[in-house]
Amino acid sequence: MANKETLCVQAGYEPKSGEPRVVPIVQSTTYAYETAGELADLFDLKADGYFYTRLANPTVSAMENKLCALDGGTSAIACASGMSATLLAVLNVCGAGDNIVSSRAIYGGTYNLFSITLKKYGIECRFFDPDDTQENIDRLVDDKTRVIFAETLANPTIVVLDFDKIAAVAKKHKVLFMVDNTLVTPVLCRPLDFGANIVLYSSSKYLDGHAVALGGVIVDGGNFDYSATDRYPEFLVPDESYHGLVYASLGKNAFGVKCRVQMMRDLGAIMSPENAFLTNLGMETLALRMERHSENAKKVAAFLACHEKVEWVKHPSLASDPYHALADKYMPNGMGGMMSFGVKGGSEKAAAFMEKLQMIRIVTHVADVRSCVLHPASTTHRQLSSADLAAIGIADNLIRLSVGIESAEDIIADIDAALNSI
Ligand SMILES: *Cc1c(COP(=O)(O)O)cnc(C)c1O
Repeated sequence: MANKETLCVQAGYEPKSGEPRVVPIVQSTTYAYETAGELADLFDLKADGYFYTRLANPTVSAMENKLCALDGGTSAIACASGMSATLLAVLNVCGAGDNIVSSRAIYGGTYNLFSITLKKYGIECRFFDPDDTQENIDRLVDDKTRVIFAETLANPTIVVLDFDKIAAVAKKHKVLFMVDNTLVTPVLCRPLDFGANIVLYSSSKYLDGHAVALGGVIVDGGNFDYSATDRYPEFLVPDESYHGLVYASLGKNAFGVKCRVQMMRDLGAIMSPENAFLTNLGMETLALRMERHSENAKKVAAFLACHEKVEWVKHPSLASDPYHALADKYMPNGMGGMMSFGVKGGSEKAAAFMEKLQMIRIVTHVADVRSCVLHPASTTHRQLSSADLAAIGIADNLIRLSVGIESAEDIIADIDAALNSI
């Protein structure tokens, strides 16, 4: 079962004789045992099993195992949202006084978490420009750096991550390299193959794919040696809150086990069984969908690039795109459905264009089967001036377009009609 198309359908759940063929929704907070000893072994991690749904649930496990297989990791933990996945992953290795070195080209919610909320708890974030040199990024790392963070494909600026450049810095300093792979998915790129140690997802996007279930997932690559550095002392000393367990002694499972038995136990942000069921169902068609999203987006980007009412287009499939070569290297089988473009005439024309669309709707969501648009300058970023917007790479005429899996011809016709009417 090595190929991704097969893993999407088959991985993560193997029913025994007479059990449901499809992953069932196990809607129970708790699990019954015949002896106290059986339960004690579970608490001591001597046996595998379920005892409370805040820590693990069979429906959630099936979904976690599927994604883990797709990414080539050692374990995965599903959370209530993409934001909680990022929070738990970071807190698993950072405390007051530590710092994160992060690309500036990241999801707005993550940017707020890193620059404002975590700062209140004593965790500092040092941002770098994704196009900056390896030397300059290297200079941001010190002995308190616990995480280097970036996104494979950043939203809404459509910047492609230079894995080799960042992985070299992380390796040199023996710092964990965390990558948010939400807008690409393991179908198009597996960050663990290119030096990442931890992969994060908002499963609310392509993994679910139908805009029905909020969620997030942390995948542990199991490829980091916590005993080879003194950066992560919490992995080397006995955890007094967990029977004196020394996490580094768990080898490839160190990060994943600590994150579950300590972070999930104390912070409690696990994915619900019903959302895991829906996400798993969505993932069965993930490989097919990513292929179509990528094909459609390539056609739409080529169309927009030639349209007289369009000032500029960003999609890595365009040969003229500054990130085309990086995308070719890291995601050769498709570059996903996310793009942005500028409508000639500024903010007002951009808003007018969106209102003229018939099939494509205005929503604050991306990466599901339905094509959708958003104009950040008049919605998510409306409190910012044109100068502020420019500083973070968002032009006031920028339209973020998430290309769905409808017919490319119909998507293009809707856009064409709307552009020609403004
Ligand atoms: C949406 C998104 C998130 C946050 O996920 P939620 O499920 O909305 O909490 C994080 N990273 C990226 C790249 C996203 O697109």
